[in-house]
Parts: sequence; C-alpha cells; structure tokens
Amino acid sequence: MIIKTKALVVKEYIVGESDKYVTLFTKEYGKIQALAPKAKKADKGFASATQLFVYGDFILTSFKDTYRMVSAEIIEMFHGIRNDLERLSYASYMMEFLQYVTEPMLPQIELLRLALVTLQALARENANCKLIRRIYEIRALGELGFGVQLLACVECGEILEEEENEKYFFSTQAGGLVCKNCKSYYKDHSMINYSTRYTMQYILSAPMKQLYHFTVTKHIQDQLSEICKQYVPYYVDKEFKTLEFIKTLF
Ligand SMILES: [Zn+2]
Repeated sequence: MIIKTKALVVKEYIVGESDKYVTLFTKEYGKIQALAPKAKKADKGFASATQLFVYGDFILTSFKDTYRMVSAEIIEMFHGIRNDLERLSYASYMMEFLQYVTEPMLPQIELLRLALVTLQALARENANCKLIRRIYEIRALGELGFGVQLLACVECGEILEEEENEKYFFSTQAGGLVCKNCKSYYKDHSMINYSTRYTMQYILSAPMKQLYHFTVTKHIQDQLSEICKQYVPYYVDKEFKTLEFIKTLF
C-alpha cells in the first residue's frame, strides 16, 4: 500500500551506516515509525527532509506493520529553533512529550496542530521558551481529555464567579478549581489569582493559531509553572530525558 501524508518528524535515529528510522506524527494515521533508507547519505533534499522537527509531505509504502519512506518534501523546517540551544532543547522536549502521549495509527489532528504552532512560536525571535512550555503542556493535556476544570468547583459544582480581585484554589488531585468550602478536602490546593485562571481558560480554548499571541506577567508565569509542576506529572507519568537535559542547562 502507498501512503501519502503530511507529517511532523518527532524522532530520528541512524541505523547502520546510512539508514535512518524516523517517527512521524502524521495527519491521517497518527504516529508511524518508518525506515528512511540511505537517508543519511542520500541527496541533500531527502537527508534534510527526514530531520527532526521537519513538517513535510511524505510518501511511504507499507507492508504489514512496517513502513518505508519513498520520498519526503519539506513544507516547514522551523529554522529559528535549530541554532539556539535553549529553543532546541525545549523543542526536543515537546517532541519527546508528543511521542509519549500519542498512539500509533490514531489520528490526533489537534495535537499535530498544537505541535506545529508551538514550533512556530519557539522559532520566533525573543521566544519565551519557559512560558511556551507551560502553554503547550496545559493545552496538550486539554486535547488529551485531561484539561483543568476552571468554571465550577470540581467537588460541589458551584459556579465560580469571575471577579478580578478574587482568589481561587487549584488542586491537582481534584483536577481543577475548588471553592472555599471544599478546598479543605484537597490537601494539595494552592491559591491562584483571577489572571492566572483567565490565562488557563484562554490556553484551553483559544483558536490554535492565536495560542501563543499573548504574554503574561512573571507572577502569572510562575503560577502556571507551579500548577504544571504538579499537574503534568500526575497525568503524564514519565521522566523525560530532554527535561533532565534542560535542568542541567538553565
Ligand atoms: Zn465546592
């Protein structure tokens, strides 16, 4: 069978002298691992189109469960992330995360779109990598069905009014906000302010193209980070190698 698909290269590794295995996150088939024969030594076009972070048009042949790449053409390669260690490290983490949370042969088009807008954001000048990481994590968990509940108390269902000076209580165990009366049931709760709640709502619901078109104060970014430090490992139980590397750098 011949498969034509648009896909993002989320992993590449060399096998033998010149072949390469790539993991593609495809539009139509979800995650696929494919052999790209002679990709290391092939003409420059094929070699660069099979690199990590390339979004392109791919043609593959399939036989049983194995895929072999016939051709690859670059649509976008996100130049801005390739020559900067910080951006490269965060982009690598995004790809490792994506690989872990996606399933073979299950199309998850919103996650693919998220990955693409995230790489675009990281490739921009003055990219705030730490904020981009948190936005990506919150939205990715939302797309996976683990989005934080922000409109009403998770425990009793009371609608939480939107007041600028209001404080809210966030609990990872609850999976979102809890009201003043219910917060004592959740020992892990922490206080957040209105702007942080609003920012999370925006991250979960904004059109993908506008996801990274905002900035926040350091205080809000810190609150988002504190939430993600608890929330993300609760749902994605994995020690990412790329994060270990980031810790040694920054
Ligand atoms: Zn409640």
